[in-house]
Amino acid sequence: MTFKTLHDFDLNDKTVLLRVDLNVPVQDGKISDFTRIDRLKPTIDYLKENAGRVILLSHFGRPKGQENPEFSLSFLPPVLSERWGIEVGFGEDNDTQITLKENLRFNKGEEANDPEFAKQLADLGDVFVNDAFSTAHRAHASTEGITHYLPSAAGLLMEAELNALSSALEKPEKPVMAIVGGAKVSTKLSVLHNLVKKVDYLVLGGGMANTFLFANNQMVGTSLCEVEMVNEARDIERTARAHNCQIILPLDCVLTNEFKEGAEHETVTLPDFPEDKMALDAGEQSIEYINETLNDCKTVLWNGPLGVFEMKPFDNATNKVAQKVAALTKENKLVSVAGGGDTVAALDNAGVIENFSYISTAGGAFLEWLEGKTLPGVAALSNQNKEAA
Ligand code: AMP
Repeated sequence: MTFKTLHDFDLNDKTVLLRVDLNVPVQDGKISDFTRIDRLKPTIDYLKENAGRVILLSHFGRPKGQENPEFSLSFLPPVLSERWGIEVGFGEDNDTQITLKENLRFNKGEEANDPEFAKQLADLGDVFVNDAFSTAHRAHASTEGITHYLPSAAGLLMEAELNALSSALEKPEKPVMAIVGGAKVSTKLSVLHNLVKKVDYLVLGGGMANTFLFANNQMVGTSLCEVEMVNEARDIERTARAHNCQIILPLDCVLTNEFKEGAEHETVTLPDFPEDKMALDAGEQSIEYINETLNDCKTVLWNGPLGVFEMKPFDNATNKVAQKVAALTKENKLVSVAGGGDTVAALDNAGVIENFSYISTAGGAFLEWLEGKTLPGVAALSNQNKEAA
């Protein structure tokens, strides 16, 4: 995929419209995680030096096309100023080099991708830069519509994200292992169907592994298991066989009676499985098998925890496999890319965030990319390139 980057433009004296994702998590009136803000700093630093003005465009929450003070972005400029070390203004404020515009979703035209609203936005600047990969799966006025009216480029964060994703799935070094865990098969059907066609090994963990075990006539007691997904699971297994993808299921499971932190537990080797217990994690044999297989891999792609990582000791498999991936990455033996929903929290819990090659904080967009879908916000950047060529 080809797209323009910041370096393709002379931004001197130009007003840059920078789409960012400042939909930050807020708990009790306080921002609970600054990752989204901090990751934008390289782009801000670059524009501070190389551009005229910068107008930040973002959404926040779901105000559904109505002005609503509860969803105002007015609380953010002081925080942005502090984290980025440059004064950030708000709204119509024209005194600062960098200004944050009010929540785009106060206007119905944003989510409707209304051409008129897109044009209104475009009229505010000279160049559009998209640094919000996490919103690229939606064709909104500020992600897709606007690119029809302005020369457009990927920001530094978007560029890094697209390069990382491409090195993991589009043109990866083989063998490739995908690790997919989490609660349910039903929410990741398209992901699984796409991955088995592309990767050499697919490790299944978490609740969804139980459904696959059950589809292979393994009893799983009171575990989370989607019986109605058994045919889908078998279908995915058939596709995997046709594409020489080896599906790796747990060999042993950590079982308990109670879904709670520190619950009494035991590890059983399959096919043993007491009918009154549930699996909340993979056992040591499974971990060893996965980690041995990792030694032969060049690329790993990870979405979803291998067990109920929020409760000790059921974070064990996730932690040990994550630490193995991190160690191989550090030794330059592996390219490791992870992302989507709870994955970042699970890898953070394992203490490995710094050691993966790339961790995407995009939830829905990362999953849609894993499904093999074209993301409209990304396609808009590359189409433009084609039009210009
Ligand atoms: P997902 O959002 O689909 O990636 O799912 C993440 C959730 O799956 C986490 O909250 C985990 O606690 C949960 N999970 C992982 N393994 C299991 C399991 N064996 N049984 C029930 N829930 C699980």
